[in-house]
Amino acid sequence: MSDVTEALESVLGERVRREPEILTAHQRDTWVLGELFDYRGEAGPLPLAVVEAESAHDVSETLRLCRAHGCPVVTYGGGSGVCGAIRVGERTVVLSTRKLAGLVSLDSGDLTARFRAGTFGGDAERRVREDGLTIGHWPQSIELSTVGGWVATRASGQYSTAYGNIEDLVLALEVVLPDGAVLRTRETPRAAAGPDLRQLFLGSEGTLGVVTEVTFSLRELPPFHFRQAFHFAGLHAAVEPVREILRAGWRPPVVRLYDASESNRHFGESCPEGRAMLILLHEGPEPAALAEANAVSELCRSRGGEEADAAAVDRWFDERNEVPGFRTFIEKGIMVDTIEVASTWQHVTQIYDAVTSALKEVPGILVATAHTSHAYRSGANLYFTFAVRPDEPGEMASVYAECWRRAMRATLANHGGIAHHHGIGRVRSGYLAEELGTAGVAVLRAVKHALDPDDLLNPGNLLPPQGPEAKG
Ligand SMILES: Cc1cc2nc3c(=O)[nH]c(=O)nc-3n(C[C@H](O)[C@H](O)[C@H](O)COP(=O)(O)OP(=O)(O)OC[C@H]3O[C@@H](n4cnc5c(N)ncnc54)[C@H](O)[C@@H]3O)c2cc1C
Repeated sequence: MSDVTEALESVLGERVRREPEILTAHQRDTWVLGELFDYRGEAGPLPLAVVEAESAHDVSETLRLCRAHGCPVVTYGGGSGVCGAIRVGERTVVLSTRKLAGLVSLDSGDLTARFRAGTFGGDAERRVREDGLTIGHWPQSIELSTVGGWVATRASGQYSTAYGNIEDLVLALEVVLPDGAVLRTRETPRAAAGPDLRQLFLGSEGTLGVVTEVTFSLRELPPFHFRQAFHFAGLHAAVEPVREILRAGWRPPVVRLYDASESNRHFGESCPEGRAMLILLHEGPEPAALAEANAVSELCRSRGGEEADAAAVDRWFDERNEVPGFRTFIEKGIMVDTIEVASTWQHVTQIYDAVTSALKEVPGILVATAHTSHAYRSGANLYFTFAVRPDEPGEMASVYAECWRRAMRATLANHGGIAHHHGIGRVRSGYLAEELGTAGVAVLRAVKHALDPDDLLNPGNLLPPQGPEAKG
């Protein structure tokens, strides 16, 4: 047993787990490259121990002891991250939030609910629904991810167009800093008390502190829902109507536009071959939701849209969180992944064309498609899916990296932002300097150094590699 494990056990007792199956289950997140390494028996080192913290005090003690022993700490929520943000190195302790779960307080008058960070998203949503309320955050991974993980990755939900992304839903945070101190932001609807410290931890991916509590600002459950679908001549033809819907001030919670290939894949006969499907959800007080649906319908029809069978939208809702695992593809020699980027309206179709064309030139490419699932006044995201089967199974990792390189390059060359909601992790860290600029990365490094001078919280994640590891 190592010194640090002994020290942790003396303070935290049975909360320190060292069973082989528990260590193995906490080695990595859901990144497809991690899955490939696992499949090849190259999973890398196991953590020294997994600490199942039950309180902010346990988290403080873990960070304090690991710091005293110079031992890296990786926080593990649901492990559903898809960018390689969790990958255990040598002599690493994993801090699991699995037992740091449950509701702390709910105030239905103020519309606030405070959860411990390891609460799974589905559990949190079901709990507030008991009181007729909703968080309004519906990532596809709602049952796989934790509320602390949502904060740490700046996650987006399927209803973001009306309700916003995680940064719009979080009222306050409790965070344990790398030296064990506890930071709590005040539960007020707004503050002009210097920079917003919540933002420092939103997207920090376990590198600046451990989120231990998340307070949400809730909504009443909407009393009425209305689903709609239209198909257009193609993604290009439909982007402008979507922009106009947002510009006119309408805010359907769900606004998803699929290119022709994805429309065919998801909606089959409900969307004629070669057409692009737009699906929408309107909700709220019935008159408001119906007014929005009517206005959207008029706008879509006047821009070449044809109404599709709303049953296609019902099917999408029923199946929206079902996704095949990466392993089944890897076993067939295929690497599949998704890449989400964002841009202002004027560049959306340009980025769509540039990224899909760049991906289609990769030898062995099988699929290069996209949809947009989050729309804003000034732009939208693009969510690409690619599948590639290199001739040689030994090339799966390098061809995968080449797909990412091409997608990132094409996005940056066309004024896009490299990450809409999955985060940076290891898959994008080599491109972060181009996203933030030299000054931006310097700020991030200075903050990291000030809070975590020994670089012990999730080292190797998020910040661009320096020295020989750096890539472009
Ligand atoms: C099938 C599938 C669908 C997905 N759909 C979506 C989607 O619709 N929208 C979306 O945004 N994402 C989606 N994701 C990605 C993923 O679910 C999100 O990034 C999610 O927010 C991660 O939460 P988690 O609890 O699993 O975090 P983890 O994977 O455990 O960790 C992610 C990162 O956050 C850090 N971290 C976790 N908890 C804490 C904490 N309490 N304090 C500090 N750091 C912490 C970890 O160290 C790591 O760096 C999807 C993933 C999958 C596999």
